[in-house]
Amino acid sequence: MPKNRHVPERSCVACGAKTPKAQLIRFVRTSQGPIIVDTTGKEAGRGAYLCRIPDCWEKAIGKRALERSFKKDLSVKDLEPVRTYYEANIAPQTATQ
Ligand SMILES: [Zn+2]
Repeated sequence: MPKNRHVPERSCVACGAKTPKAQLIRFVRTSQGPIIVDTTGKEAGRGAYLCRIPDCWEKAIGKRALERSFKKDLSVKDLEPVRTYYEANIAPQTATQ
C-alpha cells in the first residue's frame, strides 16, 4: 500500500488560507531589498506566499500585506517585480487595447 504523500501547505499572506505550496506563488526578499517572484521555488531567502486570487495580490501590493509578512518597509520599486508579475499572470485580463 502506497504511503500517503505529505503535501506541504503554506498560508497566503493576504487571505491566510492554507493551500498546497505548489499552488502558491512564492516571493523572496533579497538582501538588496527588492522582492522577487520565485517561480522555481528554489531561491534562498525569506519567503512569503500568495495564492492566485487577484484580490490577494491587490492586498499584498496595495494594502501592504507583503510588507507585514517581511516586517520591512518596501518601496514602490521593491514591489515592482510583484506588480509586474501580477499584471502579466494574475490580473483579470480585460479586452482593452
Ligand atoms: Zn490568498
